[in-house]
Amino acid sequence: MQKCKQLYEGKAKKVFLTEEPDVLIVSYKDDATAFNGQKKGTIVGKGAINNRMTNFLFQKMEEKGVSTHFIQELNDRETAVRRVEIVPLEVIVRNVAAGSFSKRLGVEEGKELAEPTIEFSYKNDALEDPLINSYFAKALELATSEEIETIKRYAFMVNDILKAEFLKAGLRLIDFKIEFGRYHGKIILADEISPDTCRLWDVESGDKMDKDRFRRDLGNVEEAYIEVARRLGLEI
Ligand code: UDP
Repeated sequence: MQKCKQLYEGKAKKVFLTEEPDVLIVSYKDDATAFNGQKKGTIVGKGAINNRMTNFLFQKMEEKGVSTHFIQELNDRETAVRRVEIVPLEVIVRNVAAGSFSKRLGVEEGKELAEPTIEFSYKNDALEDPLINSYFAKALELATSEEIETIKRYAFMVNDILKAEFLKAGLRLIDFKIEFGRYHGKIILADEISPDTCRLWDVESGDKMDKDRFRRDLGNVEEAYIEVARRLGLEI
């Protein structure tokens, strides 16, 4: 599989065309941003960790019946994926109150929710990814009713699978963000699942083991990413 022209460069990844029209190569960067790009930095080794971790978790998803864009890991930071049309929704699932949920609703960080929640943000940097609901998504033709139903069903399946995987690694899954794409008319899981996109707290100590260490200047950012990878049994 050969990289051709660069198609896109995002905050954490570059995407390349290949000789196959249906296949892209994703290249994970060490760059980190937060607060809609206002805070910038580097997390050394993050690209390789997020690549390996996403691929490991996406293969778990496939085993449990959630289709993904994963095709093949090419090297430590590059992976071949199916070319999808990204549904412009950030899909956030929460098990425990934290971050914007705690702030918006005045709920203490760390409060276990009575049941998992799902929310949608409209993927639009200029508007700072505003929170919307499924009616907005349909009215703005971001997704159809049927697609939204599939996305919800997959999102809660992903939550169950991730919660179990991370718990085996001594990590509590607080919340996460996922994205979906359209591939030949079907909804499949795309983008990434990593400490950039999940909140993970150590089961014993409650220590944050995710991008909040970068967002909140908690230190030991690289070490936390390496530790999560190590606990999942990944070779980095
Ligand atoms: N998240 C993400 N990308 C975003 C916004 C959120 O990956 O652009 C993840 C974030 O890491 C957390 C979850 O989604 O695991 C919920 O984030 P929240 O809405 O609380 O926003 P934040 O507090 O990160 O601004």
